[in-house]
Amino acid sequence: MKTYTGTDLLMGTVLSMKVESGDGDPWKTLYAMGQDLETRELSWRIEGSEVWRINAAAGDPEGLELSPEMEEILTRCLAVSEESGGAFDITLGALTQLWDLDRAALEMQEAGSGAESTEPVYTPPSDEEVRAALARCGYEKVRIEEHRIYLPEGMRIDLGAVGKGIFLGHAADALQEAPISGTISAGGSILTLGNKNRSEPSEPWNIGIVDPADPSQLAGAIPVPGGSFVSTSGDYERYVEADGVRYHHLLDPHTGYPVGVKRPVSGGAEINYAVTIVCTDGLLSDALSTACFVIANDPERGPQQARELAERFGAQMYLVGADGIL
Ligand code: ADP
Ligand code: MG
Repeated sequence: MKTYTGTDLLMGTVLSMKVESGDGDPWKTLYAMGQDLETRELSWRIEGSEVWRINAAAGDPEGLELSPEMEEILTRCLAVSEESGGAFDITLGALTQLWDLDRAALEMQEAGSGAESTEPVYTPPSDEEVRAALARCGYEKVRIEEHRIYLPEGMRIDLGAVGKGIFLGHAADALQEAPISGTISAGGSILTLGNKNRSEPSEPWNIGIVDPADPSQLAGAIPVPGGSFVSTSGDYERYVEADGVRYHHLLDPHTGYPVGVKRPVSGGAEINYAVTIVCTDGLLSDALSTACFVIANDPERGPQQARELAERFGAQMYLVGADGIL
């Protein structure tokens, strides 16, 4: 067994790997697999990808034929939308493009390392613009029939909330037979592989959980067995601040605003929890962390409903807030 590591950018975030393998270095295969998945299937930004083609066909009465894999991804995502009462919604593309928080956060980060005076100013969209974009969203308007998808005019699919989880699912499948142990992480999602300790196979992995109040620190660690997918959603991952409001990248599909940001904007965003999901499926862990984040921080729904959703899918949920990890 030898130790191999790797780190590079993938899907707009950092992919990193640290494994022990008796089978050579899996990094190149892994990274190429991620790039292929992003460009061929998942990215709405990359011209020619399957999601790009689906979006380009929005409003076409003929619809578009789906690959078997994409049909499965979309069907499973729509089921999470349904079960979460719309807290998770892959049809928010018009809204995520309007807010453009992923790009804005990156720009701020890059500018932050230079002179302060050059820092770009973020201007949030107006209520009117949000309303107009929100009208183009809504999972219940998607029709999938006989392996074809029909989107209404103006709708845009965005699989940003599940891309990393889908990729880690593929990684787990590809490495299933290999004598390998370690962790692979993509943004806020982590896959554990094999046994942490060969002489003590039942010893779990300990996955560090970031403290949302101070992301440079850990709030603690949770024990998980090999073959787990651990996904965390929080308001500290990607955000910009403007006029004292933290505009983060997780949107409430009911308001069209980042979760916790009130309309009219009244300073601050009320976020009480980051959410970590542990389960045995990559797509599901990623989808549920986003869904449970939205529900747990919704004053009308709250942590109990988020926990019920996770349990319905056989997943474990951890809330990370002022009281530590619950
Ligand atoms: P990260 O990408 O930081 O790991 P997530 O996995 O939770 O975080 O996904 C965030 C991305 O999902 C956003 O950048 C956006 O593209 C999309 N998104 C935002 N809000 C929602 C939502 N309520 N339902 C589904 N997708 C969302
Ligand atoms: Mg997610």
